Parts: sequence; structure tokens; C-alpha cells
Amino acid sequence: MWVSAAFTTRASDGVTRPSPWRDVPDAKWFDWTWQQQNRLTRLHEVETALTLSTDERDAFASTSERFRVSITPYYASLMDPVDPQCPVRQQALPHPSELVVHDFELEDPLAEEAHMPVPGITHRYPDRVLFYVIHHCPVYCRHCTRKRKVSDPTTAAARAQVDEGIAYIARTPSVRDVLLSGGDPLSLSDERLDEILGRLLAIDHVELVRIGTRNPVTLPMRVTDALGDVLRRHRPVYVHTHFNHPAECTPEAARALAVLADAGCVLGNQMVLLRGVNDDAETVRTLNLWLLRHRCRPYYMFQCDMAQGITHFRTPVQTGLDILRALRGWSSGMAVPHFVIDLPGGGGKIELTPDRVLDRDGDWITFQNFQGRPIRFRDVSGRD
Ligand code: SF4
Repeated sequence: MWVSAAFTTRASDGVTRPSPWRDVPDAKWFDWTWQQQNRLTRLHEVETALTLSTDERDAFASTSERFRVSITPYYASLMDPVDPQCPVRQQALPHPSELVVHDFELEDPLAEEAHMPVPGITHRYPDRVLFYVIHHCPVYCRHCTRKRKVSDPTTAAARAQVDEGIAYIARTPSVRDVLLSGGDPLSLSDERLDEILGRLLAIDHVELVRIGTRNPVTLPMRVTDALGDVLRRHRPVYVHTHFNHPAECTPEAARALAVLADAGCVLGNQMVLLRGVNDDAETVRTLNLWLLRHRCRPYYMFQCDMAQGITHFRTPVQTGLDILRALRGWSSGMAVPHFVIDLPGGGGKIELTPDRVLDRDGDWITFQNFQGRPIRFRDVSGRD
């Protein structure tokens, strides 16, 4: 598991912050609007905080026009200032491989645009919809599956489009579950979020609303007590976080999860398996045990999608199965996420599990337990 000296010695309680933010007062550092206003978006800004390799500098110049760079000072402070292998850094800094587009890659790998009855709504499964309410994120993840529109201000969901989405949900009685996504819905103001949640939950057939957000990871200051009050008014709101590595598990992130959980939110984490970032069992186990301690259940471990320019992040499917095999039995089942592939073309999610059946002999099945031992189990045939 990757461990950075910079991370382990990082003072995250406001004592010392890395240069260039050493002298920023706490009142600013912990203010999410200050963090938004001071995001690193240009090469020379990033280089005030990090020493880039030649590859990273070249990649910045050639890719940032296609998919913008945006890094909050907080998220940058989690990065190793010199090591390009740093798992936090890899998720936010461009890599030369982003320019390599393979013929099997897809601009819209999950066919989200093809299943849009109205702009801004993907309705693929019968009883639930994805509702894109904003295209802004505090940090743009280099592995994002929605690079085609996230970070592009020209595709942002206007107020009229959100109204149209709510109208579609209201006239579609099969929709009982709405997942707010984007972009990051917590980029909306508290007032706007309050209004959208209130209008959705006023629809008789809408039973629950979920929010997919990376703010607890990249901008935990956004999760204020005032936001907690908004979410408490509409509870239970399910919140899907997106932690990928233990280096993201800071006291600030823990506080954000506490505010959400205390507001009655039901928390689940959706990590993405990323090569060189979190593709080993010990990293996933450490992350998941931390999440559980902070009332956030590991929910999904996603196989990285076939989106354009992110193949360098993808791991073999077998890697995910090996990680599951290493987790099951050695940690509580609560720490073992569902390993899923979201199939291309809108095929939907499928879950994969390691095969534990060694042999079948009539009604007797031989399973392999978590220690690798063969153990016989007598099935019932219906004739017993
Ligand atoms: S926070 Fe989510 S939507 Fe935004 S860039 Fe990252 S993965 Fe994409």
C-alpha cells in the first residue's frame, strides 16, 4: 500500500499546512467558498504547490483544454508534493495516457445520453432515474466517466432544464427513487438544494432521493452544519460518497461524514478501482474499515468504465475478484463492497463474486472457505 511521508506527517488540525497555504488563517481554510475561489486550475498555480515531473507538465499542457483541471487547496494539500505515484495526485493531475484513445473506448460508455427522455434525466432502470442537476465539481477527477460534459460550462443544467426534469419525474409514476448527480450536486447552494429536494419529495410516488457527491473527499468544508440542517429536513436522504484511497481519510473528511450521518443521511461509498491508486486488497481494506468507523458503509467497488482516455486507470477484472477474495472472511461482511461492472451501452450493473464452488457430487457441494480450505455442504434437492 502506498504511504507518503508527506501524508503521514501532514498536520490536518490546522497546525501546519503545506506551502503555499502555510499562512492562510483557519477562518479562510475551513471556508468552502474560499476553497472554491482558490482552486488550482492553471499550470503555474499547481506548480506553486507541487513539483511536477516532465510528463505531468507536458500532460497538463496538452490535456487541460479537453478536460479542465480543478483542484481545491485542501485536496492538493493531501498530495505528495514530489511523487507522481501519489494516489491523490494521480486522480486529479493530467497524465499523458489521457491522450491515447483506444478504438474500444466510448465517449459515453454507459449510454446515459441515449436513455434520456428529457435533457438531464437518464431513465434506464424501471423505478429510478439519474438526475443531472449541475456539471460543476470542486475537483475534476481524471478517471471521470462523464468527461464528455462534466467541467464544460456550455453543458450545465440550466434552471429550465431542472424544471423539465422534475416535471418528467412528476408525470412518470414508475419513478420511486431519484439519484441527484452531475457534476456534484453539493456544488449547488443550500437554498437551491433545499428547493430541489422539497419539490422532488412533494411528488407522491417519489419515495427516496439520493445524492452522489465527492465533496466529502475533495471539499469536506462544504458539508456545513447549515447543509446538515437542509438534509435533515428531507430525511432520509441517501448519500453516495466517492472515497478511493486511505490518503483521503482525514479528520476533515471524518467531520463531513459525521455531519451527514447526524443529519439522518444514510451513507454508502462508491469507490472505483484504479490502477496504481487502490488496486490492492490492503488499500481497499484500510479504506473500508475507516469508512465503517465513520458510519459510511462500503457499497460499490466499481470496475473502471470504458470511457475515452482512462484505460491507463483500468485494472483487469480478475484484480477486483482477487481483492474481494482477500476481504471476505478477513473483515466483517459490512466492509466488503459489491464488485460491479456498469456494462457499456446502458446494459446496467452486474455484480461479480469469486467462484467458491470446487466440486459438486450429487447433493454434496465442496466450497472453498475464506482460508482456502475445502469444506463439504449438503444441499437440499426438494426430495428430502
Ligand atoms: S466528482 Fe464525480 S462527476 Fe465530478 S469529476 Fe469526479 S467523478 Fe466526475
